[in-house]
Amino acid sequence: MDFYNRLSADLEQLREAGCYRTLRALPAELVNLSGNDYLGLLNDTAFREAFYETLSGETRNLSAASSRLLTGNVPVAIELEETIAAAYGAEAALVFGSGYHANTGILPALVGPKSLVLSDKLNHASMIDGIRASGATFYRFRHNDLAHARTFLERYAQAYDEVFVMTESVFSMDGDCTDLDALVKLKADFPNVILYLDEAHGVGVFGETGLGLAHAKGVHQSIDILIGTFGKALCSTGAFAVCSKVIRDTLINKMRPFIFTTALPPINLAWSLYVFNALPKMQARRAHLHSMGERLAATIRARGVDCVSESQIVPYVIGSNEDAIAEAERFQKAGFYVLPIRPPTVPRGTARLRFSLSADLSEETFNRLLDVFHII
Ligand SMILES: *Cc1c(COP(=O)(O)O)cnc(C)c1O
Repeated sequence: MDFYNRLSADLEQLREAGCYRTLRALPAELVNLSGNDYLGLLNDTAFREAFYETLSGETRNLSAASSRLLTGNVPVAIELEETIAAAYGAEAALVFGSGYHANTGILPALVGPKSLVLSDKLNHASMIDGIRASGATFYRFRHNDLAHARTFLERYAQAYDEVFVMTESVFSMDGDCTDLDALVKLKADFPNVILYLDEAHGVGVFGETGLGLAHAKGVHQSIDILIGTFGKALCSTGAFAVCSKVIRDTLINKMRPFIFTTALPPINLAWSLYVFNALPKMQARRAHLHSMGERLAATIRARGVDCVSESQIVPYVIGSNEDAIAEAERFQKAGFYVLPIRPPTVPRGTARLRFSLSADLSEETFNRLLDVFHII
């Protein structure tokens, strides 16, 4: 079989398994429940226009035209990092092109010859790619089961120089949250544990000032590497790590997806800074978002379907790919853009709808969504 025939045959197999992916446009008339614009900033034109008013000189630039290490280290990049570090009360912060860059590059830059990695079984693909690229020995602990992670530590921690424990604060598929008190307890009990926490779905959404779940629980100082992304609640692009100065310096020297890529455009960094500084004022949006999350999860549980969500991401587990597709179509016909999530993104036989809420949903629209559950 020649090359192109093999590709076509592989795609045909995906189609037969109900796993074929296509790029779609959001139909304009549907309410978007599949994005990550949790704070409802995407269509807040007044907020955006107020930002444009602040631009001048360098921050109007649409490209950095260089990596950070050459001429891309613009003042707004430094201001953004200093602002983030100060907000978290940390020594340092470093900004990356995306969360994907961050998670694929940080671990390979930090591991040594005697590093072990423990990773939650449902960690985001970018973390898994980072672990593989690091070449370190790794074990996966059962999803959100830190007691299981602890058994690995009891068995192996002494045999390694350090053990990276990697997890997410708010999981992207089910919206369930890590018990962060139990996570930092691991570090208290095993001194060579390095905690790596991805808050892609937590930053902006949790805490009085929107700094994420670890900050909300007061445990952020115990996290060695805290990842936030700008592309979700903050409605921008890029990502950051909050860390010690020696970790930041190591990343600048060794992290390939930091070194060998063009820096983010100044205008995007300025927008990230503008939104980051506005996070403390968005408490009403967060309260509305969490209220909707709780009511949606309660509606699903009332149907006898287990729902582990504790956040703005709410799964509705259906089972077969075909049923999930049919149910997604039913919600779409009712005006809501909800997509089926299928294996391999989620475990086989647990195809689901994933509701990703946004603070700009009105009460009226949200109630119409709940009504769809009751019409069969
Ligand atoms: C979206 C996501 C990323 C990737 O971030 P991007 O900035 O979109 O590349 C990383 N980790 C988690 C948990 C995510 O959900």
